[in-house]
Amino acid sequence: MTHIAVLGSTNMDLVTYVMKAPQRGETVTGREFCTIPGGKGANQAIAAARAGATVSMIGAVGNDSFGLRLRDTLEHSGVDTDFLRTVEGPSGTAHIVVDDEGGNSIVVIPGANGTVDHLSPGDEGLITSADTLLLQLEIPLAAVVAGAEAARRHGVRTVLTPSPVQPLPPELLAVTDLLVPNQYEAITLTGRTDPREAATALLELVPEVVVTLGATGSLYLARGVDPLVVPAPRVTAVDTTGAGDTFVGTLAVALAEEKPVHEALSWAAAAAAISVQRAGASVSMPYRPEIDARYTA
Ligand code: ADP
Repeated sequence: MTHIAVLGSTNMDLVTYVMKAPQRGETVTGREFCTIPGGKGANQAIAAARAGATVSMIGAVGNDSFGLRLRDTLEHSGVDTDFLRTVEGPSGTAHIVVDDEGGNSIVVIPGANGTVDHLSPGDEGLITSADTLLLQLEIPLAAVVAGAEAARRHGVRTVLTPSPVQPLPPELLAVTDLLVPNQYEAITLTGRTDPREAATALLELVPEVVVTLGATGSLYLARGVDPLVVPAPRVTAVDTTGAGDTFVGTLAVALAEEKPVHEALSWAAAAAAISVQRAGASVSMPYRPEIDARYTA
């Protein structure tokens, strides 16, 4: 079985549904409140585990009740949490207000994620034993760079999701094998408005790029090969939260299994299409048999 390590965030999403978001100084009565385990790191770990890989999560939760639930959620999907530290203080949270027009405003408090600013020797050992390391930008950049450098030293493939989008330092780009921005991130990183032009600009920086294009699908560019455009299955989306994380987690498994790139992208698109037809991020992620059933070559 392929082994995927994920170095990244765990967050409890605190979601409030209101008719209209309050202005400063205003109090409103909302409709509903729910807590949803998330964080891009944890979401990608769950997607990869459900897609059939052995997955280890490196990161931190707080010593609060959210931390227990975040750990539990990962374990429930089969993710190994031996390298998920429990630290003094609160877990990461995202305070999300969703209004009736579907608009949202979000406050992210890193909490325990902010303590993941270096690698322990154990973390490094784990990374070097994996086939692939998945990285995002919801933990301190120093740890992301250290993780990617450790992976590179040992020939472990690095897959970076540049979210939340921010300038990528040269030392990180130098050790990134595959960069997977969504369209917005690709445009923000490059200043190009056309996704293909943005992908081409990114290919100057890393050897492989996948730009995800929402319901349209994805675009793959690698040096020395023809670009691939892989459409997404046509489905009725209910909730696209976590679509990108489902896509990346599943894609990483397929590539680690050495599926041909076109097949890997279609397989990931099948997984993401299943997830958008259900509510929730990690809870909506499909297991391997469902992906295989949805996948069409
Ligand atoms: P993110 O979730 O990071 O913003 P995207 O919106 O680009 O990323 O979605 C990631 C992938 O999820 C897409 O490449 C596509 O395969 C799938 N996806 C997203 N939205 C839909 C949709 N409405 N229908 C089918 N697939 C979708």
